[in-house]
Amino acid sequence: MSQNNQNKNQNNNNGGFFNKNPIFIFAIFAIVIVLAFRGLTGDSMGTLGEGSMNATKNISYSELKELVSSKQISRVEISETSIRALGLNQNIYVTKRIHSDPTFIPLLDATGVEYKAYSETNWFGELLFSWVLPVFIFFGIWMFLASRMQKNMGGGILGIGSAKKLINSEKPNVKFDDVAGVEEAKDEVVEIVDYLKNPDKYLRLGAKIPKGILLVGPPGTGKTLLARAVAGEADVPFFSISASSFIEMFVGVGASRVRDLFESAKKESPAIVFIDEIDAIGKSRNSGPMGGNDEREQTLNQLLSEMDGFDADKLPVIVIAATNRPEVLDAALLRPGRFDRQVLVDKPDFKGRIDILKVHMKDVKIAKNVNLEEIGRLTTGLAGADLQNIINEAALLAGRNSKTEVEQSDLIEAVERSIAGLEKKSRRVNAKEKRIVTYHECGHALIAEVTKGAKRVTKVSVVPRGLAALGYTLNRPEENKFLMQKHELIAEVDVLLGGRAAEEVFIKEISTGASNDLERATDIFKSMISMYGMSEVAGLMVLEKQRNNFLGGQTIKDYSDKTAQLVDDTVKNMLNERYNAVLDTLRTYSGAIENMVSALYESETIEGEKVREIIKNFEEENGLETRLVEDEIKEEIHINDESQDKNEDTKEV
Ligand code: ADP
Ligand code: ZN
Repeated sequence: MSQNNQNKNQNNNNGGFFNKNPIFIFAIFAIVIVLAFRGLTGDSMGTLGEGSMNATKNISYSELKELVSSKQISRVEISETSIRALGLNQNIYVTKRIHSDPTFIPLLDATGVEYKAYSETNWFGELLFSWVLPVFIFFGIWMFLASRMQKNMGGGILGIGSAKKLINSEKPNVKFDDVAGVEEAKDEVVEIVDYLKNPDKYLRLGAKIPKGILLVGPPGTGKTLLARAVAGEADVPFFSISASSFIEMFVGVGASRVRDLFESAKKESPAIVFIDEIDAIGKSRNSGPMGGNDEREQTLNQLLSEMDGFDADKLPVIVIAATNRPEVLDAALLRPGRFDRQVLVDKPDFKGRIDILKVHMKDVKIAKNVNLEEIGRLTTGLAGADLQNIINEAALLAGRNSKTEVEQSDLIEAVERSIAGLEKKSRRVNAKEKRIVTYHECGHALIAEVTKGAKRVTKVSVVPRGLAALGYTLNRPEENKFLMQKHELIAEVDVLLGGRAAEEVFIKEISTGASNDLERATDIFKSMISMYGMSEVAGLMVLEKQRNNFLGGQTIKDYSDKTAQLVDDTVKNMLNERYNAVLDTLRTYSGAIENMVSALYESETIEGEKVREIIKNFEEENGLETRLVEDEIKEEIHINDESQDKNEDTKEV
């Protein structure tokens, strides 16, 4: 309501008479010009030549004096620069005035010639050409630029600093049922809905409700949709804005937009504030090549202070942000009280894709006998938005062929078209690559489950180009790294090596896909030696110091070349030793790996429970003593196709 009123005011301000009545301006402009020219033609002539047919003659000053002396002149007009004289013969004589001659006026007096002064400079014309016209030209250019800017920004030049037009407010009627294939993400946000519906219930108990939720996932996976569904389920207003629209050419605009956004939301709380593409403002503040960007930083600071400023316990406003680049976000955004809860909205697996197709099929007439499983198999790696497109495209195709229902052939053709379009953008996974990736991920997962000190597996996935990757846990506090024990670090290396080792054992050939794993494994061993005092080489001596924890971990090296050589050799030996141990484990468990691989071929993702079940069955069948780590429940990991992503990146370069 208040939002609407403000919108109207905004429009009036923006519109003003300048924007709305260009004709009015030109009318004024035209009148000014006409007046100016009248002035030019009228005044500057003096009175001598008015309306007469007199001939005008240019003569010299001395000639004029001659004429005056010989009484052939009846009237004289003198201006700053010239003298005009009316002769008895009705001729007008004009000459330049000579200022230094003091005898002229006495001469006129003596001969009884009437004389007067006149002004040749036309003040009005002068004013016009030297002042008014330039101002008008500048004003015109300014208006032109302003109107172009207005088109680009979707806001008025006079509305700078106000986001009212960019802030969308709605009460969505999207429900959780409309969001499919992202069940885990939905589970994470259901409690928010209940809180928004009955805040008192929670507040009475003193429960801490998260203020900010960060939805992380590739484009088109339904992050916006999920946020709207939260608002829809809770029946609260949904304020949304894209963070990229905060950033404009004028410093300070973004910050004031953030202020407006929160002001509007607080007025109507309980409410949801949704900020899309938060990475546009939330980039790590020291990540730019030239240091920082003032505007972005100001906007980010404003956002942080707004989030810190309101008391979520009294004002139920929940901020949901979305990004597909969580790794660039400033750590300040992820602190407690801000976006301290992160929810992964990843690409759907086989079952998820079928569910999404079903959601969008509700709106179109589909033949009863379509085989959705087939479509699900054909659409590996596509996101929800792509699937929605496919249904739509299929409906268009059916319509073009004057069918009454969408048939399987339409769906398949739509899939082919959409995949052809995507293929141009990014290479699709072929069968051979899929095989490599699947064994690689199973290698990681198996090692993780049978190694003491390693994290448990929640899920293994081979959905291409998803965001979830091995060890991808967004909110992993930095401190953890320093509190890890030696055997846990070694376990992490084992898990990292598991992917590459599996390729060697089962594919009998090594791909480039493991380079990221190997890099990280190397880093871990290097830090163990040089920073954590965990090896014999350096003993307790710290070779590398973390210079500044907040500046992204640059280190100062403080040792000789000889020591460096020794560190390198030791890292190499340690890696080799672990790699051989991992190879052994994988060979022992090769049957279990094969079983995991076929399960993954079936459904693209398997749960951690399933992984453990496969391993356990295998151990029982083969009379092995179980190596499953049952006792310690550590942080859990998604194991995904990060190697695949890496693979593509390197190929594209
Ligand atoms: P994102 O914000 O992650 O880029 P959107 O929420 O804007 O993606 O998704 C665009 C559209 O694609 C949605 O409006 C919806 O129609 C469809 N869509 C995407 N993901 C899903 C999903 N998980 N379930 C159903 N529809 C989806
Ligand atoms: Zn890997």
